[in-house]
Amino acid sequence: MKIQDIGGEFELIDRLAAIAGQVHGDLVVGIGDDAAVIRTAPEPAPYLLVTTDLLVEGSHFSSRWCSPEQVGHKAVACNASDIAAMGGKPSWMFASLVLAPNADVEWVEGLYRGMARACRSNGIILAGGDTTHGPAASLSITLLGIVDQGHLCLRSQAKPGDLIMVTGTLGASAAALALLEKNDKPDLYLLSKHCAPDCRLDISDIIAPLANAMIDISDGLGSEIRHICRQSRVGAEIVADRIPLHPEVRRAADQLGIDPLSFALQGGEDYELLFTMAPERVEGLMKRTDDCHQIGIVTQGQYEPVLILADGNRIRLPEGYNHFKK
Ligand code: ADP
Ligand code: MG
Repeated sequence: MKIQDIGGEFELIDRLAAIAGQVHGDLVVGIGDDAAVIRTAPEPAPYLLVTTDLLVEGSHFSSRWCSPEQVGHKAVACNASDIAAMGGKPSWMFASLVLAPNADVEWVEGLYRGMARACRSNGIILAGGDTTHGPAASLSITLLGIVDQGHLCLRSQAKPGDLIMVTGTLGASAAALALLEKNDKPDLYLLSKHCAPDCRLDISDIIAPLANAMIDISDGLGSEIRHICRQSRVGAEIVADRIPLHPEVRRAADQLGIDPLSFALQGGEDYELLFTMAPERVEGLMKRTDDCHQIGIVTQGQYEPVLILADGNRIRLPEGYNHFKK
């Protein structure tokens, strides 16, 4: 049986968790959220957060389009994004490298310059790693962080009646990649969102004390909403017109003859935050930021999320990106 025959990446992780996932009194959250949550001291001490992410040349970055500095920046940002999605702050980082035997030292140093700069701007200290050789370059980062118990936001905490919110705008990274793959040149805004995205630690500490569920958008809105629905045992209604798209994403979609929403729903690598919040808390949030947008509501019952189109038609929300999926 092949991975694609069981549904893809997420179904495989479920199976692996069934084989090796363990229950432990100090493991507050194990496999299944943006980071593991670990109790290291008696309550009410903050929890330890641990996340790890792997970037592979050709699948997650391409030296054709992105400088080594940008790849390093992105590697830090996508891990820090998972810590932000838990409501926490990142702290210590470990970086492991697989390099082709003929890799350029200058490329590796550029990678580390990008990582160092992103670490500095996010309050992260690089504390170790590993280096080995292999057929393609890849970079695995493990990032630790801490979160106050009262700020912890899990994928499983959405409640019927919550508003569904996102930060920023979606689809820019996917739009840039679609243009690059057609040998078109994205504008600087799209290119920087693809090659050197930032995570939303700038805003996550405002959101975390107010939100119920939270997840970061790495695989497209269609995927992340499903994770929240499945783990919170709720449904969701998303209003297509409310999904925030940057004008450059619309322009790219026009150029390619594609629905711009597909970049937001199926694209991924936005590293914005998707969260749910009781309606009475939204006013407090909006007083502190204008970069959060309501895109839908959490509904009762566990069923497929629905997308409400501009003409009022309701369709099944298109799925997001899933490695290995047919
Ligand atoms: P994200 O997209 O937020 O980085 P992932 O989809 O990569 O999250 O992972 C979801 C959950 O599955 C996380 O808890 C992660 O630790 C866990 N996970 C992913 N791959 C594996 C694996 N090979 N073995 C054990 N746990 C895994
Ligand atoms: Mg995540």
